[in-house]
Amino acid sequence: MQGAAKAHLAHRQRRGTRRPLPQHPDAMPEPRLLRTVADLLMPRTCPGCGAVLAYGERDVCCLCLADLPLLTPGLWATDRRWGLFRELPHVRSIGALVRYHPGNVASRLVHSLKYHGRWQVGVVMGCLMSRLLGGKGLLEGADVVLPVPITWRRRWQRGFNQSEFIARGLCQTTGIAMRTDLLLRTRHTESQTHFPYAERAGRVEGSFSLAPGAALQLRGRTVVVLDDVMTSGSTMRAAAMALAAAECAAVRCVAWSWAG
Ligand SMILES: [Zn+2]
Repeated sequence: MQGAAKAHLAHRQRRGTRRPLPQHPDAMPEPRLLRTVADLLMPRTCPGCGAVLAYGERDVCCLCLADLPLLTPGLWATDRRWGLFRELPHVRSIGALVRYHPGNVASRLVHSLKYHGRWQVGVVMGCLMSRLLGGKGLLEGADVVLPVPITWRRRWQRGFNQSEFIARGLCQTTGIAMRTDLLLRTRHTESQTHFPYAERAGRVEGSFSLAPGAALQLRGRTVVVLDDVMTSGSTMRAAAMALAAAECAAVRCVAWSWAG
């Protein structure tokens, strides 16, 4: 057997015998009874269009699901955001499930999750990602999902990190471990939306770091960094830079949606 083939086989065997990363307690499913009682007391509406959900529709109506503007692997590979990741060899792929335009279904779901606190919508978004991205390479062989952390100030204002709920849905359906304790947001930065794309990468650089012991846990793993919206890509790039020291097998930068 050739040396390269031998090394590949040995790598696969090592991966096969390694224990999977344990789930963080944040990834545990919600009690179903509470949800059922809440449904009886207050009929739910679709966050995409406002219609009352029909029996069997889970959080998002069928029409809105059919209207989702899906992206394709061909678009990921040729996207301008790749330019930001060129000098990060550990980042092997970037991608998103849907295109974000102000007012479209993809953006209304994000809005509902982020600004109206409908966390269950985030879980559904994560389930959709696992169902529709699973076979397209972005999630294939992934060991762990790291939701992009927000600053304590933003968490205090909003009460939660929206990406964690998307990750929760994704991990519940795929069985991939979700960890919120390995990648940390160490510096507060203002919202990037008011700054030109060219300035954004420099503004968020150094905003993330690894928790003590995280590098050891992530070494040799395939890691998915997950965010709700990727616009310029600078926040995702800063998060990926923090993972450079962990010697991951691969890092994939994945978002629910791409804006712009
Ligand atoms: Zn709808």
